[in-house]
Amino acid sequence: MSLDFTYNKYTEIIEAISKSDYEVITIRDYIQLTDRPHKFIIIRHDVDLNPYEQVKFAELENNYGIKTSYYFRYIEKVYKEEIINKVFALGHEIGYHYEVFTKTKGDPVKAIELFSEELKNFTDNWESKTVCPHGGSFVDNTDGYSIKNMIKLIPKIFSGKTIFSKYVNFDLWDKHSFKDFGILGDAYRSIDFSDILYLSDTGRSWDKKYKRLDKVDSLINPKFNIKSTDEILKIIKNHETDKIYLLVHFEQWKDNFKDWILWYIAQIIRRNGKKIIFRKK
Ligand SMILES: [Zn+2]
Repeated sequence: MSLDFTYNKYTEIIEAISKSDYEVITIRDYIQLTDRPHKFIIIRHDVDLNPYEQVKFAELENNYGIKTSYYFRYIEKVYKEEIINKVFALGHEIGYHYEVFTKTKGDPVKAIELFSEELKNFTDNWESKTVCPHGGSFVDNTDGYSIKNMIKLIPKIFSGKTIFSKYVNFDLWDKHSFKDFGILGDAYRSIDFSDILYLSDTGRSWDKKYKRLDKVDSLINPKFNIKSTDEILKIIKNHETDKIYLLVHFEQWKDNFKDWILWYIAQIIRRNGKKIIFRKK
């Protein structure tokens, strides 16, 4: 048995896709193409925590001639121009992973100003044409994905306090238009998910019961009940569906066993935080 969520497992996905007759398109392609391929896969990467881990995966994809969409948060830890330049040079799409409602505590005027300001870095440097909302911000610690921060959250979870920010970043588009910012669209809002199988590794699990905001209206998803990457490999190899949208956070995919285990523990804590929130609703 091999571990799931490792570099090798991701290599298997990329290999399977490259051997299949699925066409890989970026979010930008999806929005721009008037005539989309009948069979396609979109691969989106949200860079939430560690930009340095992206490069080897971006190289791997490039070796197989695959172009994907990378969305970087505009926070000090993640927004590293030298890294983003490398990913861009490998032919991938670069986009802005915005969290302006969380950053401005829901102030709609400040949020849109901040959006415009931060976005400019992406459009100026990497010709970005699409954006993507960041989902899982924590109430008092927007970078709280590390094991240390997760442990700090345990007492809160068990006392029933909310650990996630209540602001939904893509609500920004209720009152604004992409066109005003020279962009084509958003990785959630501009996609018609109804005929797409949406697969997300949020919380290091493909299981939909662990997703809080990370859900879409798909008519295809109810036909599948995916628990492991091997099941996704099977779907790709057997062409079990025509359109797939894969969200992969490379922070979840660890090579060394110690990192893998630590991350696993962090995700169990995070999932339990989510379960408590669900119950309270
Ligand atoms: Zn994110």
